[in-house]
Amino acid sequence: MVIDVTDILLETGASKSIEHSLYLEDISWQGEPLRFMKPLSVSGNLTNNGEMLLLNADVRGVVILQCGSCLESYEHNLDFSFEARLVKPSFHDSTDSFIYEGNEFQVADIVWEFLLLEIPIGRRCQEKCKGLCPKCGINRNKTTCQCINTEENDPDLALDKRLQALKDHFSTQDKEV
Ligand SMILES: [Zn+2]
Ligand SMILES: [Zn+2]
Repeated sequence: MVIDVTDILLETGASKSIEHSLYLEDISWQGEPLRFMKPLSVSGNLTNNGEMLLLNADVRGVVILQCGSCLESYEHNLDFSFEARLVKPSFHDSTDSFIYEGNEFQVADIVWEFLLLEIPIGRRCQEKCKGLCPKCGINRNKTTCQCINTEENDPDLALDKRLQALKDHFSTQDKEV
């Protein structure tokens, strides 16, 4: 989405409000998908402060993430604000400002920069996600598999194994005597 700034360029202090539905493309980020089912709402103000343009905006919406534990998709709410400094290419001296060229800029480029900061590093569909069974790969949030009956998960079976080891130990001693 392109925002034209011509109308506020001539006068210091001039500003205009921005209210947009922003459609973002699905991307792969850090090897995992970020998907958007609905446009994000972007609302705020663009002000000419004499030296640069300041874009203050609130972003709201939903991004679909993939759980790093069970690999299911889940919704993550987005609700954040940002302030972006916009300058002409000839004044672009630092990395913390964005460029507008030909009196316009792409609002999506700016929103992406701030949106990626909002994506959690450890993505979990729920706090207590049980993940996938390491043996059969089943999603343990949804169903239970037979693999649960292994010694590490079943205290009775583990006890049996310890008793067996003890028995073996004594039978070995018997032989030595
Ligand atoms: Zn999960
Ligand atoms: Zn299993």
